[in-house]
Amino acid sequence: MFIGHYAASFALKKVSPRTSLRALLLGVQFVDILFMIFILFGIERMRLIPGTTASNSLKLDFMPYTHSLLGTFLWAVGAFVLFRFALLRKSGYENHTRNLISFAVAIAVLSHYFFDVPMHLRDLPLAGDDSYKLGLALWNNRIAAVSLEFFLTLGMFAVYLTASKPGQGFAGKYGMPIFGAALLVICVLQYIIPPPTTIIELSSQALASYIGIGLVGGWLDQKRVYS
Ligand SMILES: [Zn+2]
Repeated sequence: MFIGHYAASFALKKVSPRTSLRALLLGVQFVDILFMIFILFGIERMRLIPGTTASNSLKLDFMPYTHSLLGTFLWAVGAFVLFRFALLRKSGYENHTRNLISFAVAIAVLSHYFFDVPMHLRDLPLAGDDSYKLGLALWNNRIAAVSLEFFLTLGMFAVYLTASKPGQGFAGKYGMPIFGAALLVICVLQYIIPPPTTIIELSSQALASYIGIGLVGGWLDQKRVYS
């Protein structure tokens, strides 16, 4: 899953509006950001084999540190500690607000595993690489896969928009709706245009997308008005 992960960011922003959307957008892809770096350094492994699933060529051979339930959980705990005791230290928020914000970011990180389970082949381990693996293989049904990602994102984006009002200027009024529409277009295109053929190409494109979406979405969200 790629764009569908952002559904969790949008839902969490509605539940905890003081959490930065940038942190939530980067948070839901955090383990994928690590994965893209880890495969470049050979710490985790994947191959691109056309036809691995009907939707993509991802043959995910070894990713226990980023895409196991235990690994994702530990990264989520790390995110909680980072926000609660470092990044929010000088925020001026009371303790319970800091707890809530940090918890929302941690849930964003943890959500990645659960959003991947319906799409992936059985390649998502519970703990180490030799442990039981989950995956419902929806990627083998392209229409079902793209529909799930599309409607999940659309639905949660609509929920997200109800938490705030349009702000000033073009970016404040139209920025976020355009951003949401762009995500939905990317969601569909991803299933249509031919995927990258090398690991370097794939990981650099993915990293640029994750970081670009996080920064642009976070910036546009700040243009909106929260009461
Ligand atoms: Zn992933």
